[in-house]
Amino acid sequence: MIIGSHVSFGKEQLLGSVKEAISYGANTFMFYTGAPQNTIRKDIDNSLTKEAIKLMEDNNILIDKVICHAPYIVNLANNLDSAKYDFGINFLKGEIARCESLEIKYLVLHPGSSVGLERNIAMDNIIFALNKIITKDTKTMILLETMAGKGTEVGSSLEEIKYILERVNIKDKIGVCLDTCHLNDAGYDMSKFDLFLKMFDDMIGISYIKCIHINDSKNILGAHKDRHANIGYGTIGFNSLINIINNETLKNVPKILETPYTGNNEEDKERLYPPYKFEIDMIKKGEFNSNLINDIKEFYMVK
Ligand code: FE
Ligand code: FE
Ligand code: ZN
Repeated sequence: MIIGSHVSFGKEQLLGSVKEAISYGANTFMFYTGAPQNTIRKDIDNSLTKEAIKLMEDNNILIDKVICHAPYIVNLANNLDSAKYDFGINFLKGEIARCESLEIKYLVLHPGSSVGLERNIAMDNIIFALNKIITKDTKTMILLETMAGKGTEVGSSLEEIKYILERVNIKDKIGVCLDTCHLNDAGYDMSKFDLFLKMFDDMIGISYIKCIHINDSKNILGAHKDRHANIGYGTIGFNSLINIINNETLKNVPKILETPYTGNNEEDKERLYPPYKFEIDMIKKGEFNSNLINDIKEFYMVK
């Protein structure tokens, strides 16, 4: 089982991420190279990267399965503000260069939102941008994430993902990241995952799936909302998520948790703790923990 979670990338950069992943009992992880909401990025410190890679080797963390996530404010779908669109393209070229120096193979990207444009035009903007970003020398693969269809998000149907993939020129540097919460909110029933996978394979091809975000959802099937819930505490449920995690054909695909911090009432932001250590434990055991929130609270409060 290749499982990990979203972790931070702070002062110690990748080394800090690795330490955090180890504390959760993970064998992979996902990070942003800075804040997800902005594009301010520091230079990569190669000595920290070296230490991080050594620490990964010593702790059975699989660097080939580690994921970087692009900031979600980059929007390749809309070019009404051409300076902003060009900035997005250049930023992602830089992000790929950062990934390459960190030896990271995969960069997850939200396709974007059409905001005021026709969806077909928005998709063509994404394709044009991807063909500028991905060159024959690119080493890091871009993974388009399946979206919930909140607002004007593009990439909330397999048809749209397929349309974009088919038009990206360099096929071996583009893939897909499934997100179970997003798929549920987009209207794909995760309790019938085998059917979904068959459909995905017929339309796109299973080999394009390089990462899966494992999240429960706070909303019902087809709600187009995108609010993640802790594993087993949402509308998808523990059994359906475990079934996806244990899918034999997707065995070598990294599974990444992006579930919300918890441990207290959600309004009390000061006292929220990462759920990942306990969710990973529950997933490895294959047994739902109905006391999850309390276990998390107890563990982090005594520290
Ligand atoms: Fe995402
Ligand atoms: Fe996601
Ligand atoms: Zn989401």
